[in-house]
Amino acid sequence: METYCINGKVLAERYQTQMIEEVAQLSQKPHLAVVLVGDHPASLVYVRHKQACAQRIGIEVELFHLSPIMTEDALIAFIRELNTNPTVDGILVQMPLPPHMRDYRVIDAIDPAKDVDGLTRANLGCLFVGEKGIRPCTPLACMALLQSLDRPLVGLHAVVVGRSRLVGKPLAQLLLEKGCTVTQAHSHTRDLASICRMADVLVSATGMPHLIGASHVKKGAIVIDVGIHKKEDGKLCGDVDFQAIQGIASAATPVPGGVGPMTVTMIFRNLIDMRVKKDLLVSKKMVK
Ligand code: NDP
Repeated sequence: METYCINGKVLAERYQTQMIEEVAQLSQKPHLAVVLVGDHPASLVYVRHKQACAQRIGIEVELFHLSPIMTEDALIAFIRELNTNPTVDGILVQMPLPPHMRDYRVIDAIDPAKDVDGLTRANLGCLFVGEKGIRPCTPLACMALLQSLDRPLVGLHAVVVGRSRLVGKPLAQLLLEKGCTVTQAHSHTRDLASICRMADVLVSATGMPHLIGASHVKKGAIVIDVGIHKKEDGKLCGDVDFQAIQGIASAATPVPGGVGPMTVTMIFRNLIDMRVKKDLLVSKKMVK
């Protein structure tokens, strides 16, 4: 069996083409505020990717590049100002923050209605109780990649390796919502390989290079690799040994070119949806 390569770049382009059309219909360009604290090299690259993607789609990105020695309270006060700024539709705080800041205290300062990453307690809470809310971008990206295969997910056994607030936990919820039976593995899981071999859908989000090899994959499984790791030669690799699972998995995402491009796309998908919702609220008020 040949392993089908799920091309995240091509899928992202397809999504973005649709989004360009949607943005052109809006009365105003959606406006995203990106808050970057300090000069973390990978963060600078990620922010540039987001700016380039936004420009393609027709979205306005305003970058606030702040000092790494500012206090956590000063950053929170800055975010609260963005919350009350009516021209800002969405706010994204680029991670990681400097070590003296608590990530989730900062994220929870974002107004849930402007939380484009869907990571505030309010939005994660909505996901966990099955209410409407903004869903986190990387888990959304994984779901879009899975759904691009056009195979029903209901009843499949999904194993998610990783249980972070950013990826593993919300992704497990999204898979549950789709009717999968979900097993969540983590660093204390015993005999990871045999747990993974139960999966019809295997998603790995650990950041451990090539943690997942041939012995972890059931014949015919779909494998989604969220992990990103920079090797000594500067090249990127994922959690999954992509070569080793060829001929075993029925489909798999590569790194790079899998989950990454779709994650960036989903930020803007969320932002457009938020903008449309805001416009709807305004037009309803005008009718009243
Ligand atoms: P975290 O470090 O927050 O979480 C990693 C998770 O992996 C933890 O739950 C940890 O378990 C688990 N883990 C670590 N080692 C093992 C192991 N040997 N066996 C099983 N589980 C293990 O990372 P994130 O969730 O934030 O990110 C995960 C990866 O995804 C990273 O490489 C990150 O760069 C990448 N990423 C990629 C994105 C993209 O767009 N492609 C977006 C976001 C992240 P425990 O909880 O027990 O410690």
